[in-house]
Amino acid sequence: MLEIAIIGAGPAGLATALQLHQKGFRPSIYESVSEIRPLGVGLDIKPYATREIVEIGLFDEFCSISVEARESIFLNGWGQQIFAEKCGLHMGYSNEQRFVHRGSFQMMLYDAVRRRIGPDAVQLGARCIGIDQDERGVTVRFEPQRPDAPTEIRADIVIGVDGIKSAVRNQLLPQSVGTHYSGITLWRGVTVMKPWKSGGSILHIGDPVRQGSLIVYPIQNNTDGKGNQLINWVIEQNGRPEIVEDWNHLVTPNEVPNLFEECRLDFIDLGEMVHSAREVYIFPLVDHDPLPHWSFGRITLLGDAAHAMYPRGGNGVCQALVDARVIAEKLASIPDPIEALREYEAERREAVNWIVHANRSDGPEIVRRIAEERSGGKPFAGINSIMPNAEIESIFMEYHRKAGMRRPDDESGKPCAFPSVFTASH
Ligand SMILES: Cc1cc2nc3c(=O)[nH]c(=O)nc-3n(C[C@H](O)[C@H](O)[C@H](O)COP(=O)(O)OP(=O)(O)OC[C@H]3O[C@@H](n4cnc5c(N)ncnc54)[C@H](O)[C@@H]3O)c2cc1C
Repeated sequence: MLEIAIIGAGPAGLATALQLHQKGFRPSIYESVSEIRPLGVGLDIKPYATREIVEIGLFDEFCSISVEARESIFLNGWGQQIFAEKCGLHMGYSNEQRFVHRGSFQMMLYDAVRRRIGPDAVQLGARCIGIDQDERGVTVRFEPQRPDAPTEIRADIVIGVDGIKSAVRNQLLPQSVGTHYSGITLWRGVTVMKPWKSGGSILHIGDPVRQGSLIVYPIQNNTDGKGNQLINWVIEQNGRPEIVEDWNHLVTPNEVPNLFEECRLDFIDLGEMVHSAREVYIFPLVDHDPLPHWSFGRITLLGDAAHAMYPRGGNGVCQALVDARVIAEKLASIPDPIEALREYEAERREAVNWIVHANRSDGPEIVRRIAEERSGGKPFAGINSIMPNAEIESIFMEYHRKAGMRRPDDESGKPCAFPSVFTASH
């Protein structure tokens, strides 16, 4: 049987292992940290990614740790509605959209890998530091972080799923080592709160460039046994110097800039939400330039290692879950593994690179920027006075199509009513 080594046990590496296992492979996963801990805050799992979770037989478990998304609401900095869209089944998709804590999601996948593939499937404390291939296979070298971790292994193929700072990618494409900083700082927090609105609403508030942006959504039901939810929020501020990329850099709520005083909503107190946060992390909004290649003979890239993107439109982990299925399908159906990795890249790379670029133009969040520009940052009389609904629908229609989630009410092949806003000039 093909020996497959996966470098990185983040959500993407673990999902890849489960997809491969369903196709009859027994991959080995090598992870740099000595212990998997439930780190991070919120992830938005779109219907097309929920479908992948259904495919690997984890939907019920996933439902028990996540919150069903019902509506997505876009507001200006004064709290006026720009646009609203139903989510998942409520919009007519065949699958639910759900919000989840990244740490719970990763632990769910980790437990499933250990249960299905074996308790030794994930080798912890194995930090990849080098990789070489020859005609017969690949040698991976590790800097062990625990005594039982290997220093070197051989495999037939290697999948680099080691995140935005990927050591595998940096070796294969030394010219693309650095990340790309947007000029925007993120404060990512979680707060225990009473459910508000539908109990499954996501709010997108403000202007991503000028005033700053706030995204809010629930990621855990009944988090404290008293019916409260764990609410995930992300505040973005533009024009700050770049800070160190550390997902676990904690700050206090007092350090978060107060950008949304003018935004008064009758169902949630945004100031109180930030003030009473349980945890707040600071992180720079970074992505990676779209890559010219993912597959190099017996080695390929997947997840953030292949396509780290700004979290506009919530597609980063979702695209990784699709990568995981496609690579497993190719390896199961194409006898030559090198050809299979080429086919995987051919099916995925160009489509995902479009999203990386579009997210630099703010993805669908661009409607908030356009509304801000046309209203001069002032309250508007009605959104239609500055931006017709057809124009907003056209932006969402194009973005959703390209991300692989054509809306059920979108007639396939029908051209968008307005010219694309996702151009290099944005
Ligand atoms: C600690 C952490 C917290 C995060 N929090 C959030 C969040 O709150 N919200 C959000 O949207 N995204 C978050 N992300 C990113 C998010 O997980 C990814 O964008 C997405 O889920 C795709 O996952 P991935 O598995 O490709 O990458 P990642 O989740 O980054 O996983 C990569 C894995 O590879 C391991 N690794 C790295 N280098 C090596 C190496 N040299 N050798 C072996 N293993 C290596 C890492 O330890 C990690 O487990 C976080 C990532 C991390 C690592």
